[in-house]
Parts: sequence; structure tokens; C-alpha cells
Amino acid sequence: MRVAINGIGVAGPTLAYWLGQFGHEPVLFEKSPTLRTGGYLIDFWGLGYEIAERMGLVPSLRERCYEMEWMRMVDVNGSEEAVLNLTTVRGLLHGRFISLARTDLAAALFGACKGIPAKFGVSITGIEQKESGVAVTISDGRQETFDLVVGADGLHSQTRELVFGPEARFEKPMDCYVAAFRIPGYRHRDELTYVSHTVPKRQVGRVALRNGETLVLLVCRCELIEGDPPRERTKEALRRAFGNMGWEVPEILDGMENVDDIYFDRVSQIHLPRWFSGRICLLGDAAACPSLLAGEGTGLAMTEAYVLAGELHRADGDFTKAFAAFDARLRSFVTAKQKMALRFRSFFAPQTALALKVRNVAVTALSIPSFAKLFLASSLHDDLNLPHYRA
Ligand SMILES: Cc1cc2nc3c(=O)[nH]c(=O)nc-3n(C[C@H](O)[C@H](O)[C@H](O)COP(=O)(O)OP(=O)(O)OC[C@H]3O[C@@H](n4cnc5c(N)ncnc54)[C@H](O)[C@@H]3O)c2cc1C
Repeated sequence: MRVAINGIGVAGPTLAYWLGQFGHEPVLFEKSPTLRTGGYLIDFWGLGYEIAERMGLVPSLRERCYEMEWMRMVDVNGSEEAVLNLTTVRGLLHGRFISLARTDLAAALFGACKGIPAKFGVSITGIEQKESGVAVTISDGRQETFDLVVGADGLHSQTRELVFGPEARFEKPMDCYVAAFRIPGYRHRDELTYVSHTVPKRQVGRVALRNGETLVLLVCRCELIEGDPPRERTKEALRRAFGNMGWEVPEILDGMENVDDIYFDRVSQIHLPRWFSGRICLLGDAAACPSLLAGEGTGLAMTEAYVLAGELHRADGDFTKAFAAFDARLRSFVTAKQKMALRFRSFFAPQTALALKVRNVAVTALSIPSFAKLFLASSLHDDLNLPHYRA
């Protein structure tokens, strides 16, 4: 089958790879002119890690990854108020827990798609379903026909908008904003340590990268950001929301002034009653974004891509049966992950000083292996057996 895949992030190339393994003809479309570089760091474990193993990608991912050792939470003076030993967490997962740039993961997945056509700088702008296929309009004006179209174009998916309707219908706002950017040459460095300062409703964290850059992550409750500020007002809005936090925050905000590439967005989940319609299917954040609070969006995106390709293979051309099997196999698993993400909102942006204290006590307790085993293991565990689909 010829399958058009909109989006070369995490879900898109994973699907293309597995469709290729099963003898189909995927074609990838990406609206950015090139694969992105830089960006934020992700923690990567569980089913995503297992699929990367099945794709033979783990050695190259491990070359680019960080094995973070500590998560330190500090007060306004930089004194430690809570600490988590991440080596304990890694031990619970038998070492299969790494951190790396999302863009490095996407590049590795795309690198596995050798020979699969990929068109950059264009996107699918029109979709017309017919009895025998889908007529697709590309942003460069061309028209092509495919057997299936898959939207893997992220949280603000255009494919979803074209086929299922406006985003607002499916968006569950999580009452937070997030910003991420990289500062070159920031003077404070704590290698392999995620250092953060939290006050009620706000958190600022930093990680030193090996190229001399420091990755900064800011999370705050929506009430601290007025409206949905336009792109050119992002820095101003962040200064207003975080400016009076103390610690290193003034220095970090000064560093931000020289940065062009700032990721800034509302934190949202996507909930759809069904992930497919006729010959169109959605994947990853487009279908069921769990939000950054889940910490496992890449793993879910890869799992959905792997299972969709496998079910299409199993159904031997009967895409209606395959889409239904894909949805049925993953829905309760993905919904449970989305629910769990809600629990982590207080970790990033607790509402009150008391909630912050509780968080700090809980985090420190998790460094004790028996506590970690009891409380963390269940959140990290993926309650799904990944099927084997034979090519
Ligand atoms: C700050 C932050 C921290 C996070 N931390 C983690 C973490 O620790 N662990 C984790 O597993 N996950 C984390 N996530 C979530 C994770 O990044 C996503 O869940 C994951 O990238 C989803 O993959 P995807 O392929 O569905 O979408 P994306 O990775 O967003 O890829 C979508 C692709 O589609 C392209 N695109 C967009 N629109 C169009 C269009 N109209 N036409 C064509 N192409 C288009 C985009 O350019 C992009 O390349 C985090 C997210 C954020 C924002």
C-alpha cells in the first residue's frame, strides 16, 4: 500500500520504517525545510526503548545520550531542598533509561528510513477520501493519490484539523505553559544533574549539555501568562511570569535575550474518541498527546507507530480492520498514561507552598531504593506486551 505520512518527528519515521519492513510504500512529508537540531531533552525508556532496540538504534542513541545522575531541587539561595538519585531510577529499569535531545531521537529514527521518499518543506494541505484511495493536495500545489494517509504532525496536527475538526474540540488544557531554550556558555554547570528551583506555580530548571550549551526548561501555571502571547512577545511574557523568582533566574532570563529558537506553548493533551476515519489515521501527539508531564510521549508515539504498521501487516490490506485493531489494542493503555500525567503537574508547578513541601519530601524519599521500588516502579512500568509482527 502507498501510505502518505505527514510529519517527520518521532511517530512519522517510526511508522515509515516498519511499513517499509512489511513491504509497503510510505512517503514522508515534513513542513520544516530540514530535520530540526537542538531543542529540548527527553527521558527515554520503556516501550520506546524496546522498539528502538528492535530497530537496532540503541547503540547510536547511547552514543548521543546523557545518563543523568541527579535531580537537585534548590531554594532561592541555591541550597538543596530535595534530591533524587537517578541512578536508583535507572537501576529499576535495568539501565534502559537515557536522556537525549528529541531532535537526536528523530534524526536516528529518520536515519533508519533509508530509501523511503521524504519531502521536506511541504505538507499535506488537502485530503479527499474516495472509494479507491485518498486524493491529497500538497502545499506546493501538487496532487497525489495514496491508499492511506497518516497524520504524525504533532500536537497541533493539521491532518487532524482537516479530517476531524478544530483542535479546541479535542484539546484538554493542563493549565500550564512551557518554554525551553538553549543558552550557549552559561556559567553554572552541574554535569549530569538536572537542577531546578520551584516556587508555587512556577519551576525553572537547567541541564548542562556537552557542547557547552545549557538547556533551560520553564513551566508555569497559565494564570501567570496573559492570554496567548504572539511569538514576538514570548520573551516579554516569560520575563513577567518568572522575573521575580530569585536564584539564577535573572541570569537565565538575561541569557534568553540572545536566543532566537525558543519553544513556547500551552501544555495540553489530545483526546479523540477514535483515531481513524475512513482511510485516515492519526498517531503520536496528533492522536493522543499525553503532554510533557507524562515524560513518555516519544515512547507512546513510537508504540502507536509500531502497532499501526504491525496491524496493517496482519490485516493484509484490510485497513479498516487494522485501524480498529490498532485503536482497540492501545486505547486503554494510552488513556492510563494520559491520566497519570495529571499527577505530575504538582511536580512541575505545585499550586501552594504546602504542595511544594510535600513534593520535596516525596522526591527525597524516592532516592531510597525500597521506596522507589514501591512508588516509582508502577509509574515507570509500561503495562503492555509489545506484539511481534513477523515480516
Ligand atoms: C518541553 C517538552 C519536554 C518533553 N519531554 C519528554 C520526555 O522527557 N520524554 C518523552 O518521551 N517525551 C517528552 N515530550 C513529549 C514528546 O516530545 C512528544 O510526545 C513526541 O515528540 C511526539 O512525537 P510526534 O512524532 O507525535 O510529534 P512531534 O515530535 O512533535 O513531530 C511532529 C512533526 O510534524 C511536523 N509537522 C507539524 N505540522 C506539520 C504539517 N502541517 N505538515 C507536515 N509536518 C508537520 C513537525 O515539524 C514535526 O517534525 C516532551 C515535550 C515537550 C514539549
